[in-house]
Amino acid sequence: MTVAVITGGSRGIGRECALLLAARGHDIAFSYRAEKAAADALAAEIEALGRRVFAQACDVRDEAAVIAFFDGVDAALGRPGIVLVNAGIVAPQARLADYSAERMRSVFETNIFGAFVTAREAVRRMAKSRGGAGGAIVINSSKASVLGAPGEYIDYAATKGAMDTLTIGLAKEVAGEGIRVNAVRPGIIDTDIHTLGGEPRRADRLGPTIPIGRSGTAREVAQTMVWLASDEASYVTGALVDVAGGR
Ligand code: NAP
Repeated sequence: MTVAVITGGSRGIGRECALLLAARGHDIAFSYRAEKAAADALAAEIEALGRRVFAQACDVRDEAAVIAFFDGVDAALGRPGIVLVNAGIVAPQARLADYSAERMRSVFETNIFGAFVTAREAVRRMAKSRGGAGGAIVINSSKASVLGAPGEYIDYAATKGAMDTLTIGLAKEVAGEGIRVNAVRPGIIDTDIHTLGGEPRRADRLGPTIPIGRSGTAREVAQTMVWLASDEASYVTGALVDVAGGR
């Protein structure tokens, strides 16, 4: 069964993807930034499901670290056939007039540069012209890419606009290489990411405003990402799939 790689896999949506993919029989490699305890707990859960696991601290802002992570995956588990480009952050809720340069660089480097370098390493391993066997890349964008996140984090929303563009362009570029590239655009999902924005219970506040009447769960996003990565989605590429309860 194909090896699956997940960046930012230790918590939230990435964690649910790891568990679903492991339950489907995939060996799992995941990265995280710093919180080793969460990573160790997930690694133990994956092993308990009978799958092999490779977990490594790897800041996606660091190109050399991302390359070393993928080299580690190759050595430990073999070449990946699924890569979920998932790691992402928000900055504290603020209006653009109050953004610092440091804040914007951090969001842009994590969400855009990190995603591009991750996607690049995935293509280098999957492309048939490079000796790969093809595969599936799923990018975690956000419904914010079209809503803009005014008063909260336009910088974050703009990085997700970049994810939509990356998905559309790369899907066309590598379709002939046997690689499918798709994105999910989650809405308000109840994970710890909102703590970074300074409002841990943001999902509770906004849930009732969403057409479907509640926030979403990490599992609901993961189910869509895992489907996009699977052969069940064999004719789907370049798609931006909203998982946003109608938001
Ligand atoms: P989360 O619960 O905060 O988890 C984030 C994960 O990413 C953690 O494993 C974290 O590792 C890792 N990470 C953070 N910065 C990293 C870096 N520089 N390098 C490597 N790993 C890093 O987040 P989430 O809500 O699951 O979000 C996952 C993705 O979904 C993001 O791209 C986010 O933009 C997108 N999304 C989320 C929502 C939502 O409402 N939750 C909505 C739309 C889109 P540590 O544990 O070590 O910090």
